[in-house]
Amino acid sequence: MLICATCAVERDEPVPDLCPMCADERQYVPEDGQHWLTLDELSRTGRQALLEQNEPGLIAISTEPKVGIGQTAQLVVTPQGSLLWDPVGYLDDNAVQSVLEQGPVVAIAASHPHMFGVQVEWSRRLGNVPVLVAEADRQWLGRHDPSVAYWSGTIEIAEGLALHQTGGHFPGSAVAHWAAGADGKGVLLTGDTVFPNPDRCTVAFMRSYPNRLPLSGAVVLRIAAQLEGLEFDRIYGNFNNVISSGAKDVLRDSAQRHAAWTRGDFDHLT
Ligand SMILES: [Zn+2]
Ligand SMILES: [Zn+2]
Repeated sequence: MLICATCAVERDEPVPDLCPMCADERQYVPEDGQHWLTLDELSRTGRQALLEQNEPGLIAISTEPKVGIGQTAQLVVTPQGSLLWDPVGYLDDNAVQSVLEQGPVVAIAASHPHMFGVQVEWSRRLGNVPVLVAEADRQWLGRHDPSVAYWSGTIEIAEGLALHQTGGHFPGSAVAHWAAGADGKGVLLTGDTVFPNPDRCTVAFMRSYPNRLPLSGAVVLRIAAQLEGLEFDRIYGNFNNVISSGAKDVLRDSAQRHAAWTRGDFDHLT
């Protein structure tokens, strides 16, 4: 197994000349070319996985120095076991032990293929935990393993914790809905399909963030309508970017704004 230095997604060997994830229009191959790394190399260069509580029952896992694009994973802890969401592209003994101290992990899932990280490696170290991959995105799976299970639509991980396929950034893009989060008002964990902006009061909806390619207004309104059916007050993105309260209104208003701009309602401002 090798890890792409740019996106930190693991891949079976022999690896191709270019990482297919990075060669896609949503990502990029850096100017100095494709590099593949091993976990040992990452460890030797001083990587550490760090855990930090976001709120009771939700732990952020990041790497320092960052690996790949530097995403933050989330561990959702429930009485029936934990979900490891958007697993980072690195792990070490300390991180594995800290995760297991919270109780058994019952599933590993990513919001979309950019966030696969070293999901199979995490699975093996956590006791061959099922790695849930959206059926619609199976072509993007680079490391195959018996722990991988395909899903689509909605899947319940534990009581009050479920994945919902929204599509958007990828056809299989998903959010995790955790009903007990935000003091029982509900939390959404989102990847790039719904992205909390730096202003902390709006979200973006893009096919590509690095290459600035928006989704259509119709798709954004479809996603917002689907998520309208869930109860939530807070959204965590995959870089620990957060809409801390009122997130349902934020999502609805941001979707309307996006649709209006792409429709041309504001062309007089350009
Ligand atoms: Zn890559
Ligand atoms: Zn992405």
